[in-house]
Amino acid sequence: MKTIEITIPVEVYTPDDPMLSESDRSLIEEAKIAARDSYAPYSKFHVGAALRLEGDIVVRGSNQENAVYPVGCCAERTALYYAGATYPDKAVNTIAIAVWREADGLFLAQPASPCGVCRQHLVETEQRFKQPIRVILYGTECIYVINSAAALLPLTFTGEEL
Ligand SMILES: [Zn+2]
Repeated sequence: MKTIEITIPVEVYTPDDPMLSESDRSLIEEAKIAARDSYAPYSKFHVGAALRLEGDIVVRGSNQENAVYPVGCCAERTALYYAGATYPDKAVNTIAIAVWREADGLFLAQPASPCGVCRQHLVETEQRFKQPIRVILYGTECIYVINSAAALLPLTFTGEEL
């Protein structure tokens, strides 16, 4: 028996960090707008996602809840589905995610990560377009940047075994 360790590199920025590009900053702002537009009357946890596609196209998505919980959809997949339906041939370069909590009316201080289902979908989108998707997780105190969605889902089920 042996043990393997899996680690992922995460770049950590402060919101005013000059190393954070204007392009990334603007995508974060789009994610924040999307969060405000979400439909989350049950969780009151408003998630926004913004994608930058090939050709510098930006699309937004937000969580869309339903009284029958599984019927709803996360912000990340709402954005990915919209991009897939509207720009099916455009690769996804970057996704930014922001969460606004109704309880205190604030964006989260620490970044929130996509759920497992969204990670799986992000990884398949990477495979589909054969390029990594940068993942930006926004928090008011710090911002995480991961250079590939696959890093968020080690030992991914890729479907190659099907
Ligand atoms: Zn999700």
